[in-house]
Amino acid sequence: MEERIGLDAGGNLVRLSWEGSQLVEVAPVQGEPGRVFLLPLLVDIQVNGYAGGDFNAPDVRPEEVRAITRRLWREGVGYYCPTVTTGSRERMLRSVRTIAAAWREFPEVADSVLGVHVEGPFISPEDGPRGAHPREHVRPPSYQEYLDWQEAAEGRVRIVTLSPEWPEAISFIGRVAGEGVVVAIGHTAAEPERIREAVEAGARLSTHLGNGAHALLPRHPNYIWEQLAEDRLWASFIADGHHLPFATLKAMLRAKGPERSVLISDAVRLAGMKPGRYPRLQRTGGGAAPQRTGAACRNPLPGRSRAPPSSWRCQRGTSHGVLPRRGGADGLFQSRPVAGASGRGQMVPRGPCQLHPGAVGRAARPP
Ligand SMILES: [Zn+2]
Repeated sequence: MEERIGLDAGGNLVRLSWEGSQLVEVAPVQGEPGRVFLLPLLVDIQVNGYAGGDFNAPDVRPEEVRAITRRLWREGVGYYCPTVTTGSRERMLRSVRTIAAAWREFPEVADSVLGVHVEGPFISPEDGPRGAHPREHVRPPSYQEYLDWQEAAEGRVRIVTLSPEWPEAISFIGRVAGEGVVVAIGHTAAEPERIREAVEAGARLSTHLGNGAHALLPRHPNYIWEQLAEDRLWASFIADGHHLPFATLKAMLRAKGPERSVLISDAVRLAGMKPGRYPRLQRTGGGAAPQRTGAACRNPLPGRSRAPPSSWRCQRGTSHGVLPRRGGADGLFQSRPVAGASGRGQMVPRGPCQLHPGAVGRAARPP
């Protein structure tokens, strides 16, 4: 019989005992001198909102950024990139500015936010690849607008997701990537040749590969194969069991390898909320329509071009994507990211470590 101290799915410190692949006992513990075993916190590079908070709400405030940060800690997410999505220039700038203000004001935000991810508005205008981004705010890449984001973010924009199909895209990618910002390909209808040019110019990530795409594509070549085969591109995946069928996720993870795969939640404000009916946030006008959170992560209808927004928790994705032996002891170690660990918060038994405030608050009270 083997045993180890770890965190259960609820973030509680527990002693796990198992024989072979059979879990024998999970017992709560208060902490044991010299034996506390901690797990790396999750890193989520695409979070639009969580638990009722929304970075893209027109009236988002710094306190909301702090509240989202603290709620994410409870899910084991220690580090993340608040994601600002397609909208008017003013609304996007306001979101970026608010995140920067929260960074300045609240130490927990400064510690947890790795940088701002701007997804859009320089994406494909086509239905399908565009996903849920509002058509009227999609526009061609503008380096000046990027500079305005960076100014509002006080230099903290770290990821920009765009489509290379725009004529302006390739030079934009070269300039932005040259500044050390990760340029990601996403929501794209680009020809494979354009994908190759984008990578040559410095693009290094595919955003939620396999989603934000046409429902029907030429079997080959197409922009999905091209990105899958390009070893210079990392890829993020929404591994919630719905956005990508299991066989697709498995094949994509194998094509990229764990070292180039990043699981993301792409969570929206409904994530982390109890099942129920909530008003849908209208960012483009129109009345509020009720939406069940339970419906937000079901499979799209056949022929639908996109999956609905995510209301799942990043923590669960590790069991869909990486840890298929759910019954075994490994299945409980859900706080292990596939890749993308920041290096901070790495824990080694009895080794030196710097405890993340989220971990200390949850379970890791040192004896
Ligand atoms: Zn997206």
